[in-house]
Amino acid sequence: MIFRQLFDQTSGTYSYLLASRRGGEALIIDPVLEKVDRYLQLVRELDLRLVKAIDTHLHADHITGLGALRDKTHCITVMGEQTRADVVSMRLADGDKLTIEGLALDVIYTPGHTDDSYSFVMPDRVFTGDTLLIRGTGRTDFQNGDPRMQFESLFGRLLKLPDATMVFPAHDYKGDTVSTIGEEKAFNPRLQVTSVDEYVELMNNLKLANPKMMDVVVPANLRVGLHQEEIARRGWALTAQQALALAARPDIALIDLRERSERERHGAIPGALHVPYTVLLENIAPGGTLHELAKSTGKRLVFYCAFGERSAMAVQAAQDAGLNTACHIEGGIDAWKKAGCNDSRASTH
Ligand code: FE
Repeated sequence: MIFRQLFDQTSGTYSYLLASRRGGEALIIDPVLEKVDRYLQLVRELDLRLVKAIDTHLHADHITGLGALRDKTHCITVMGEQTRADVVSMRLADGDKLTIEGLALDVIYTPGHTDDSYSFVMPDRVFTGDTLLIRGTGRTDFQNGDPRMQFESLFGRLLKLPDATMVFPAHDYKGDTVSTIGEEKAFNPRLQVTSVDEYVELMNNLKLANPKMMDVVVPANLRVGLHQEEIARRGWALTAQQALALAARPDIALIDLRERSERERHGAIPGALHVPYTVLLENIAPGGTLHELAKSTGKRLVFYCAFGERSAMAVQAAQDAGLNTACHIEGGIDAWKKAGCNDSRASTH
């Protein structure tokens, strides 16, 4: 496995680049905007293809690199389903897996620092965001933080991992880079409490100043900018109703860009082809299966995903590849279902 821990000195943020092999797919956890060029240089040097950029939670101390990475690499941007950030194109829930070629991380919902905090678990390590820090825990006094929930996330979830599990947090301000679950159980001062009430008392009396840039950073992270708005402006979007009216026509090819787990959980539109977003580019390039399908049969490609963000990026890529009738379903299968198109037509496979 390729594993790199990258540091942003200004915000004390750790970002993590992971891949199963040279030449393969990569993901990055908690990228910082100012470091995006550095990450991309490293991705090139290691001959990787960045396919997913993930934030463990909505950050209040630095601007996320998700938007810039999406714009520069067309990667999928990932956060938990509770997030209000507009840049996200794939939402995870507790029990899901975060996957790239050769790697699968277990997704666990660990709220408390914020209500959208997630941790990602591998057999030998866990990425804890700001839920569990080295000899500390993330503050719970803003962004819908809740010390009771954090206590449960810590004692009910993270500390139940094997003692040898390495802990990689989103921040450190003292220069520590890694710990273990066993070490934190023994030596983390915040974890030496005997009840949830004692923990709540401790967390409610930290009296920390707000992060310097919080008033700028939080709004910036909530509104990075949507591709869907631009795609609609160009006339490449269908509403769910319009899509329903067209769906059965022989000159339409519906393409589901989501991953298998999302299809199993939320259902799919019958008759749609399944082409996961990560393999889309090779399919729509000249010579690719979808490109040839569109060119030889004259079919119009109609992409959809969960909420419309991946499909908006797909439309742009297809248009760039010369497929000038390509469009997408605005709002994704979520909008399709809300428009009442679901019950009789969406299958679970
Ligand atoms: Fe944080």
